[in-house]
Amino acid sequence: MSDPDLRVGIGVDVHRLVAGRPLWLAGLQWPDEPLGLDGHSDADVAAHAACDALLSAAGLGDLGSQFGTDDPAWAGASGLRLLAETVRRLDEQGWAVRNVAIQVIGSRPRLGTRRAEAEQVLSDAVGGPVSLSATTTDGLGLTGRGEGVAAVATALVSHPR
Ligand code: MG
Repeated sequence: MSDPDLRVGIGVDVHRLVAGRPLWLAGLQWPDEPLGLDGHSDADVAAHAACDALLSAAGLGDLGSQFGTDDPAWAGASGLRLLAETVRRLDEQGWAVRNVAIQVIGSRPRLGTRRAEAEQVLSDAVGGPVSLSATTTDGLGLTGRGEGVAAVATALVSHPR
């Protein structure tokens, strides 16, 4: 039997922080945060970057082409739901998830305080290991000024030859 076909993918997402929205990030709600991420769905940049990395790895396009930002079926969908559905669509094409790595870029919230909890819910949604890390930009740029939160993700997927 030949080795499986292994593919890596990359995803990036950014959303704006605004008042009057709950903050959803890395599959968790952050009730003590004064600002939330704004977007068509829950705007969970970590989950969205992970979706794009998985779709990129499998050659299935991206969140916009798979779900459509104007499709009412996915309006308000949680990042975890999009992630689970993304994995289901990969599975339909024979792709299995090996792992996903996500890095969140922003000043708030302090992800380290709930990293294990976030990794658990993200891994449950994916059905495979998801690791989460975080960094800041030394006060520079849109994340440094607190205007938004960004995330980058990579994914490794495999397909039997
Ligand atoms: Mg997004």
